[in-house]
Amino acid sequence: MRYVSTRGGVAPIGFAEAVMMGLATDGGLLVPASPPRLDDDTLRAWAKLRFQDLALEVMTPFVGDAIPRADLADLIERSYATFSHPEVTPVVRLGDQWLLELFHGPTAAFKDVALQFLGNLFEYLLERDGGRLNIVGATSGDTGSAAIAGVRGKARIQIFILFPDGRVSPIQERQMTTVLDPNVHTIAIRGTFDDGQRIVKQLFGDLDFKRELSLGAVNSINWARILAQMVYYFYAWARVTGGDPCHPVSFAVPTGNFGDIFAGYMAKRMGLPVERLIIATNRNDILSRFVHTGVYAAGEVYPTLSPAMDIQIASNFERYLYYLVDQDPVVVSSYLDFLGREGRMEVASHRLDRAQSHFDAVAVSDEATLAQIRETYERLGYILDPHTATGVRAAQGRTDVICLATAHPAKFAEAVTQAIGREAEPPLALRGLMEKETRCAHLEASEAAVRAHIRATLAKVDP
Ligand SMILES: *Cc1c(COP(=O)(O)O)cnc(C)c1O
Repeated sequence: MRYVSTRGGVAPIGFAEAVMMGLATDGGLLVPASPPRLDDDTLRAWAKLRFQDLALEVMTPFVGDAIPRADLADLIERSYATFSHPEVTPVVRLGDQWLLELFHGPTAAFKDVALQFLGNLFEYLLERDGGRLNIVGATSGDTGSAAIAGVRGKARIQIFILFPDGRVSPIQERQMTTVLDPNVHTIAIRGTFDDGQRIVKQLFGDLDFKRELSLGAVNSINWARILAQMVYYFYAWARVTGGDPCHPVSFAVPTGNFGDIFAGYMAKRMGLPVERLIIATNRNDILSRFVHTGVYAAGEVYPTLSPAMDIQIASNFERYLYYLVDQDPVVVSSYLDFLGREGRMEVASHRLDRAQSHFDAVAVSDEATLAQIRETYERLGYILDPHTATGVRAAQGRTDVICLATAHPAKFAEAVTQAIGREAEPPLALRGLMEKETRCAHLEASEAAVRAHIRATLAKVDP
C-alpha cells in the first residue's frame, strides 16, 4: 500500500515511512492511495475472529510488505495484552442499543487502542531501521497519559509531556507523573494549556532544533492510529450481527478531532455494512454544523463536561474532505486555503448531499449529557462517562446502533457525581494512583526553559 498526502505534495511512500512521517511534509495528512474493497465472504470469515486476529487481517492490506506478517501479529498481540478485558473491546447490550466498551486499556480511555499499538510500532521500526524518536507534546488531560502509556519503557524513544500545573484533574495528573520509566519526562508548566501548545509549536517551528533532536509529535494525525481504530468497527459489527453481510448497523461516535469517526468511515468504505455514522459533539459543534449546512467554520472553544471533545478545528477532518472530493488534492488545498484566509469554508451542495448520505450529526448540551447519564443509570444501572453519554443521546430513538464508549466513567467523577450523586467504581488501572510515587519537572511557561530542559535531559540519556 502506498500513502499520499491530502495536499498532493508528497511522492507516494510506504507504510513504515508514513508512520514515521506523522504529519505529511507538505502540511497535509497521509492517506492510503487505494483502500481495499472487501467481499461478503471475507466479512463473514472475519466475523469469526478474535480481536487480535481480526486486527491482523484488517491491517495487513494497509501495511503491505512493510512488516512481515509474523512480526505484525506479534506487535498486535503485545499491544492488546495490556488490556484488562479478554475481548479487548467488548460489546454490551444497553437497552435498545449496544455499547462498544473501548476503555479497558491502561489509561481507561479509547485512545489506548491506538496508542498501545503505535508505541510498539514506533519501537519496532526504530529498532529495525535505526534512528531515535523524541516525542514532545502538550496535553490538557487524556492524550498525554495515553501517549505516555504507549511508549513507556520503549527502546529508542523518549517522551516529554507538558501540562498546565494545577489545571488538569488530580487523577489525570497522577496518570502521567506516576509513570517512573526513565524515558518518560513530565513537565508541569506554570501557565495554561494554550501556553503548553504554543511552546510545543515554537519548538517544532525551529526546524534545525527539530531535526537535531529527532523531535516527533504525539501525533493525533498519525495514520497508524486510524488503522488501529478501524478494527473495532469490524469487531463490534460482528458481535452484534453474527457476521451477516445483509445486516447493517449504525455507529454513534463522540467526536472531537474526527479521528475515531473517520476510522468508521474508512471501515464503511472498505465494505463494512454501516447504515449511518452518527457524529456526536458537545456544545463545540463545528462538525455538526458542517453536516447540517456544508459550512465548516471555527467558533470559540467552550469548556464542557466532555473536555476531550472541546475542539473547534478537527485535525482529521481533512482526511474526510480528501475522499469527499474524490481524492483530488488540488480541491482539498483550495478549500483549506480558503479556510485559512476566511476562517470558514463551504462545500458545494452535491458534496454536502454525499456527506449527508453517510453522516448524521447531533450537538449535545451539558444539560442533555447529564440527563442521559442519569436516565441510563436509573433505567439500566449502567454508568456512562460524559463523552459516551453524548453519543448515546445522539442515538436516541434509533435501533441497531452501536454507541462507542470512549472513556471509563471513573475518569470523569465530577460530571458523573453531578448527574447521579455518586462516583463510578474505578477500574484497576485507576486505583491507588494518589498513593504512588511521582516524578515531574516544574518549569516556567517559556520556550527557552522547556528547550533547555529537553536538551539537558537528552544529553544525559542519549550521550
Ligand atoms: C479523544 C477523545 C474523544 C474524541 O475522539 P476524536 O478521535 O478526537 O474524535 C472522545 N472521547 C474521549 C474520552 C476522548 O479521550
